[in-house]
Amino acid sequence: TALLELKHVAKKYNTGTMALSDVNFSVSKGEFVSIIGPSGAGKSTLIRCINRLIDASGGEVRLDGVNVLNLNKRALQQTRVKIGMIFQHYNLVERLSVIDNVLHGRLGYKNVITGSLGIYTSDEKKQAIEILHSLGLEEQVYKRCDQLSGGQKQRVGIARALIQEPKLLLCDEPIASLDPNASKVIMDHLRSICSRLGITVLVNLHQVDVAMKYSDTIIGMRKGSVVYNGSAQGMKAET
Ligand code: ADP
Ligand code: ADP
Repeated sequence: TALLELKHVAKKYNTGTMALSDVNFSVSKGEFVSIIGPSGAGKSTLIRCINRLIDASGGEVRLDGVNVLNLNKRALQQTRVKIGMIFQHYNLVERLSVIDNVLHGRLGYKNVITGSLGIYTSDEKKQAIEILHSLGLEEQVYKRCDQLSGGQKQRVGIARALIQEPKLLLCDEPIASLDPNASKVIMDHLRSICSRLGITVLVNLHQVDVAMKYSDTIIGMRKGSVVYNGSAQGMKAET
C-alpha cells in the first residue's frame, strides 16, 4: 500500500522558474526510494513540497491518504511529526549538546531551527540516548555539536528525526557534504532504519552508483519531470 502519493505536483517559483511540472509517483510503506538527477532537476524542491517547507503550485501530496497540501496550520503540525527531515547541512543547533539537539526533534524541526528549549522527561532522555547509541554516538552524547565531524553531525540529524518516530524519512542530499567513508556510514544507517524499523525512506542523491546500491526504487528527474521510475536493476539495463 502507498504511504506517499504525488499526483500532478507542480511548483513555479515567483521568479518564473517552473521547478516541477506534473510529477506523479507513489512510495510504498517500507520502501527505500532515491531521487536522482542533475543539479537543478527539482529534487530539493520536491522534498520541500512534500513536507510543505515550500508550497507547491498545484497537485496533491497524499501521506496515508491525506492531502498534505490542503492542511491548515494545526493539522500540518500533526502530519509533520510523521515526517522526519535530514538536511545536507545538518541544520543542528551547533552551540547545543548532541542530546539537546535530539530532544528538540520531539518538538518538530521548526523548533529545532529556532533553538527554543523544551522540558523533557527521563524516559525521553533515555530514548534519545538509546537512539544515539544505535547510531554509534556513545561517546558524543554530551558533546557540543560544533565539536563533531560532518559524519557525526549527520548521525545526530538522523537521531533527531528518529525520536519523532516518523513514518517517512525525507533526506535532502544527506551525503553531499561528506567524504566516501562517512557517506557509507550514513547510507548504511538509512538502509537499516528502513529495513529494521520499517520506516519509509525518500532520499535525494546525486551519486547514481550510491542510489543503485541502496535503493529499492529509483526516481530519475530532469528539468522538473520524472524521467525514470523503476528498480535499480532496470536502471542498469538502461544505461
Ligand atoms: P535540485 O535539488 O535537483 O538541484 P532544485 O529543486 O534546487 O533542484 O532547483 C530546481 C529549479 O528551481 C532550479 O532551476 C533552481 O534554480 C530553481 N529554484 C530552486 N529554489 C528556488 C527558489 N527559492 N527561488 C527560485 N528558484 C528556485
Ligand atoms: P542546494 O543545492 O544545497 O539546494 P542551491 O544552490 O540549490 O543549494 O540553493 C540554495 C538556496 O538558494 C536554497 O534556499 C534555494 O531555495 C535558493 N535558490 C536556488 N536557486 C535559486 C534561484 N534560481 N533563485 C532564487 N533562489 C534560489
